[in-house]
Amino acid sequence: LPDFNVDGVRKDFPALQQHVNGKTLVWLDNAATTHKPQSVIDATSRFYSRDNSNIHRAAHTLAARSTELFEGGREKVRQFLGAADAKEIVFVRGTTEAINLVAQSWGHQNIGQGDEILVSQLEHHANIVPWQILASQVGANLRVIPINDRGELLIEELPRLLNERTKIVSVTQVSNALGTVNPVQEIIAMAHSRGIPVLVDGAQSTPHLPINVQALDADFFVFSGHKVFGPTGIGALYGKSHLLEAMPPWQGGGHMIKDVSFERTVYNAPPEKFEAGTPDIAGVVGLGAAIDYMFELGIPALAAYEHSLLEYAEEALRSVHGVRQIGTASDKASVFGFVVPGIPNERIAKHLDQQGIAVRAGHHCAMPAVRHFGVEGTIRPSLAFYNNRADVDALIHALHQIVRR
Ligand code: PMP
Repeated sequence: LPDFNVDGVRKDFPALQQHVNGKTLVWLDNAATTHKPQSVIDATSRFYSRDNSNIHRAAHTLAARSTELFEGGREKVRQFLGAADAKEIVFVRGTTEAINLVAQSWGHQNIGQGDEILVSQLEHHANIVPWQILASQVGANLRVIPINDRGELLIEELPRLLNERTKIVSVTQVSNALGTVNPVQEIIAMAHSRGIPVLVDGAQSTPHLPINVQALDADFFVFSGHKVFGPTGIGALYGKSHLLEAMPPWQGGGHMIKDVSFERTVYNAPPEKFEAGTPDIAGVVGLGAAIDYMFELGIPALAAYEHSLLEYAEEALRSVHGVRQIGTASDKASVFGFVVPGIPNERIAKHLDQQGIAVRAGHHCAMPAVRHFGVEGTIRPSLAFYNNRADVDALIHALHQIVRR
């Protein structure tokens, strides 16, 4: 494995130190959510113990501190995504809320009767349902980029799928169900050559890959804090300035206005225009600490380490009799899903839990992707940079036991 001090890293995560069902916890459910380093827990705790105040609203010391921390967090997200300007970063509850915001704000302004929204078969339900809701509101249609039996997008279908009715392409960078890394740069280039903007769902790429929205030329990019070692309830929407400026607000309330009378309201400029109400200030502080932590480790370094651990895990999995791997794309991150024909997923997950091993069993909120393989669900171990070979070995050992029985 590449030079990466995983033993040192593991000590930073208190949740990994616990025992579950009498065994040391083996956390392989990172695609669902990640654990938090002590620095994130401390930053959040420090905020509530000392700096807690609403932001922007009062001219007192704690309000100034709180505002500075909040805007400092925005700057950290800007760096994390490689955006040009912190004004392009809108804080939201997470990936789901970010996509709903774009669908309802940008979507209502730009998508109408008979228009098409292009997603892929690999999407999480969070990148399907908000578009279906919009489509049913305005009379638009959802089209889908299909996948092959390895779980890779058939991008050779794109020229056929992109047409004068296509108003937006919304695709995930990494599949949460299969681990496929999609060629989003290529998809964006093809969409842009036809003048079509692209939203990239970065929920599963941000924990595993270096991101640069400018290099990608993504129009919108969304992710969740809790999947990048930060708190739940916070995430971000990146949008190119000219797009955010032209978009109508989604929710109304305090903070997003410049002036209100009963006759008319003047909205704030982005990002405030899209941040109605008191935001999750502590969440932003925690997310900022999580980004600091990832930058300190070095995202290319953690990505390289994790990638080699994934190769190790996939090879070990092939040694288990009767296992059918689901998702064998040539470019993957984190996820190595499988089924064992004849043994229900729930039974496997339960046995693993008894060994202190946490994996997800089910459809992973990506039913169309999973059903492509003729199954209703899979067992989905998913790695983060704090996992090690011992975690993988524990899983494989337990699987050998189950299969032998
Ligand atoms: N998209 C993808 C690819 C995901 O993996 C997830 C989370 N499983 C989401 C969207 C939704 O994220 P959240 O629940 O944090 O809003």
